[in-house]
Amino acid sequence: MTAKPVFQPATCPNLQPRPDWWRVRVDEIDAAVRAVSAGEVARVAVTPNGRNVWAVMYGHQAARHGTGTWAIASNSRNVEAYRTRDPDVQVAMFVCGVHGAEPEATAGAMNLVSLMETGRDLRGAERPGLVELIEQYRLILLPCVNMDGRALSGDTLRGASKEDFVRISQGVWADGTAVGYPACKQYAPLPLDKVRHPGGYPNGDGYNIMHDACPGDLRTAEAAGLLKLIADEQADLIVHMHSHSNGGQVLHPQMLGYPLHERRVLAYQQRIHDALEAAHLRPPPPFGPGGHSGINLVTASSMASGGLSLTFEQSACAEWTFDEAIEEFYVVVETFLRHGLDEPFSPREAVARGRTE
Ligand SMILES: [Zn+2]
Repeated sequence: MTAKPVFQPATCPNLQPRPDWWRVRVDEIDAAVRAVSAGEVARVAVTPNGRNVWAVMYGHQAARHGTGTWAIASNSRNVEAYRTRDPDVQVAMFVCGVHGAEPEATAGAMNLVSLMETGRDLRGAERPGLVELIEQYRLILLPCVNMDGRALSGDTLRGASKEDFVRISQGVWADGTAVGYPACKQYAPLPLDKVRHPGGYPNGDGYNIMHDACPGDLRTAEAAGLLKLIADEQADLIVHMHSHSNGGQVLHPQMLGYPLHERRVLAYQQRIHDALEAAHLRPPPPFGPGGHSGINLVTASSMASGGLSLTFEQSACAEWTFDEAIEEFYVVVETFLRHGLDEPFSPREAVARGRTE
């Protein structure tokens, strides 16, 4: 058996230096999570390269287990066989850093952890309205699911050329050509002995965790741990936070999804757009009806708990400042939590019956 290749962190010219409150390195994430005292901490998985994947929870008790999983209980006459939680307390989960090269949401989560722990984020800013909203929920933050990919990625891609963006995210073959799309989605795992650098997308074994979503054939501890956490916590909302080279956007609803969730995703596309626009964060127009996302961890998340699961892409490029990235993260969290008070994210009875409400 040949030893697994060892890679060094990607480098790139012309990147903007990070401000000191942009803490996205694996040792910084680890230290911040270990210092949590106001919240609870759970280890979700250990990565192929031996790093811990953490979840941090704030507010209200964890759910009691029902007599069945969502998959069986949603076929029974009583979804409470799965969902035992006080219906007034919803569980909102924000999943960050599944692609290690996309640090924006990790930076946001680290600032939010500081806000919840000390009343101020890492910039020293208060956000009392957000803290009050969070108190209405059980909030679960995963600051970085792909700690191996994060370890191979820089602090930011702000200032990278389009070509470097692709190379650093999705890797470079041994001959120097970029892996890029669609090749990056043709391998599970990416053959690490055939690349010069794997990029920050995959974990330490070369797996793209975002697409580790086939029941019976889960290949990463990270995806398995995340899905188990979603199921155990009976998550009502699972927001998968990624980054792309455009402004902030909620992606299309899932191809395989509950009808009610499809409606909700379209509603949140507009709501998030409007909130980002009101905050002068320059969002592109919402995608609107018609399109669908292929199966991935978002699909599997919904199957694990019956919760509303969707993807939000933050802006990773230089047209948005570091401060704007943090604001974008906060606005997204606030918008979900504000609307969730009036309209449950995932009323399970309606979801299970295939109704739209
Ligand atoms: Zn991504």
